[in-house]
Amino acid sequence: MPDIVDLIRAKRDGGRLAEADIEWLIGAYTGGVVADEQMSALLMAVFFRGLDPGELRAWTAAMISSGERLDLSSVAAPTVDKHSTGGVGDKVSLILAPLVASCGAAVPQLSGRGLGHTGGTLDKLESIPGWQASLDNAAIVAQLRQAGCVICAAGAGLAPADRRLYALRDVTGTVESIPLIASSIMSKKIAEGTAALVLDVKVGSGAFMKKQVDARRLAETMRGIGRRMDKKVQALITDMNQPLGYAVGNALEIMEASQTLQNVGPADLTKLSLELAARMIFLGKKAASLEEARRTAEKHLVDGSAYRKFKEAVTAQGGNAQALDKFELLPNATGMREITSPRAGYVAAIDAEDIGTASNMIGAGRDKKEDSIDPAVGIILEVKAGEKVDAGSVLCRIYYTKEDRVEEAADMVEDAFRVSGQKPDERELILEVVG
Ligand code: URA
Repeated sequence: MPDIVDLIRAKRDGGRLAEADIEWLIGAYTGGVVADEQMSALLMAVFFRGLDPGELRAWTAAMISSGERLDLSSVAAPTVDKHSTGGVGDKVSLILAPLVASCGAAVPQLSGRGLGHTGGTLDKLESIPGWQASLDNAAIVAQLRQAGCVICAAGAGLAPADRRLYALRDVTGTVESIPLIASSIMSKKIAEGTAALVLDVKVGSGAFMKKQVDARRLAETMRGIGRRMDKKVQALITDMNQPLGYAVGNALEIMEASQTLQNVGPADLTKLSLELAARMIFLGKKAASLEEARRTAEKHLVDGSAYRKFKEAVTAQGGNAQALDKFELLPNATGMREITSPRAGYVAAIDAEDIGTASNMIGAGRDKKEDSIDPAVGIILEVKAGEKVDAGSVLCRIYYTKEDRVEEAADMVEDAFRVSGQKPDERELILEVVG
């Protein structure tokens, strides 16, 4: 049996861990043999020294084998999923799952809840009356076979080592390590059983990765893990310097996703959803070329089949699909506050992180895992970066149900907008393709 202190020293001094040692380490930590303080020291050593491709493969494989793997072999359609590293107003998963399913691939979206300034897909869907996030494995497979897509909570049996490690990283300053992030994400996606994966790696003020060079390294690292584990992986690096779309907040984002699936959504959200969908359709071999996949995705969005699929999937999980047309059936805020421009000019920037944090302050998100959320509240932007505004023009509206932190949130939202005399350069939404 390896000695944990020897492993910590080896990694601390820049050495390489053998595959068998990594397998033992992850198993021993999950089983309570390696103590939190020892694992913390090892994680910090990994933070500074990194993991080489062989170590990373072994680390990810050990995390996968710490739990069960979902068996999707009875799903006839090719399986393909998408993972986003998280952004403010990012409701793309809600659009992609039904859109790609309507094009013939099966999408198993096993998701987590939101923490920090970005919202969680499950939290958003839970604002639909009746919708259930928890499904057992048999129900996940049955829904994939029937409807072609499922968005639900990842069960406790999937990569349990990641759950323990992530909680430890959160309190030891070791979250921001590219190999640890990449193995955490990929272990969950591979355990979920998808054959192919499209990654949306966000970069900018509202994202985990603030610099494009780091986003690229993360994308390449995840692709490398996929390659070594026989999964087709492609990544887009996309801008998160302003919220995606106009709506931020749970029920508000359901409304915007619903409008986008009816082809009347915001241009940026529609563009990104169509491009990610096309790449999923192509990786899932439902089109012979990327061009054909783009045409297929657009056709299914425009002809309403993606929207019908969304309603079918929501109904299958107990949700009232009427709420997707009749927004008064969704939770509604009771108060509204307008934020206006102090001067005429151009919107030069809208700090996504500040908008996300302000939205959380009024209850849309959680700071700690145990916090509850208010599905009705959030922020709707009236303008996007680059648009011309007059003095007094409405920049956004804050929707709330409790007064407590509205003032504080309003100050933060005001600061998030930069209005300047000069028209800013246009920013690209899709910055790079990796793979
Ligand atoms: N998301 C994950 O799932 N894992 C990380 O380590 C970071 C973000």
